Amino acid sequence: MSLFRLIYASRAAEALTPVDHEQILGSSRRNNGKAGVTGVLAFGTRDFLQCLEGSREAVNATYSRILGDPRHQDIQLIDCRDVEQRWFGEWGMHGLPPSRLTRQRVLRYSERELFTPTRMAGASVIALLADLARELDTEASAPATSAPETTPPGARAAGEPAREGLLAKIGLKRES
Ligand code: FAD
Repeated sequence: MSLFRLIYASRAAEALTPVDHEQILGSSRRNNGKAGVTGVLAFGTRDFLQCLEGSREAVNATYSRILGDPRHQDIQLIDCRDVEQRWFGEWGMHGLPPSRLTRQRVLRYSERELFTPTRMAGASVIALLADLARELDTEASAPATSAPETTPPGARAAGEPAREGLLAKIGLKRES
């Protein structure tokens, strides 16, 4: 089975609260876990940037559902391709709150300090996600004394070895 990665950006239909973020992440983790889809969802003030990884079929089915969601608009497909390995294999859907998108990080990849991925160059979006993936991977590889705040329930519990989260659940082995 080949692996596929899809990246899109969109704008929230209206200002969303952390509760809205949690609702979106809740259904994402529930559905993605069953479908073997992993990824990251970054929240800006009114913007979303999401990376979906899994089988081409599962990623397309997930994206089709997301396209019809009234909670966002101006949905822009940025990149989709076959890939050799996952970037975010630890997470059914890792939620990145606005605090992780620091001014410094955003400015490294865009002309504005406000995180607006629908206005960023595709290559910059991909570079930003690769950067985040490296950072999250380093965090996940560190000895776990307690689960980080953004760890989805069930993906990696406190004290659980770092590389045995969702992958074990969905029967996938992470490539080294
Ligand atoms: P439930 O989550 O139980 O929701 C039932 C229905 O109510 C759905 O049709 C849903 O669209 C709608 N709904 C729920 N809350 C609201 C609300 N506050 N306002 C309007 N309608 C609402 N889903 C995934 O499975 N995987 C993802 O990775 C994923 N990423 C997403 C990223 C973004 C930016 C957004 C906005 C949504 C995302 N979703 C994702 C949600 C997706 O669009 C569907 O809502 C979800 O897949 C439906 O799951 P469900 O059938 O379990 O329904």
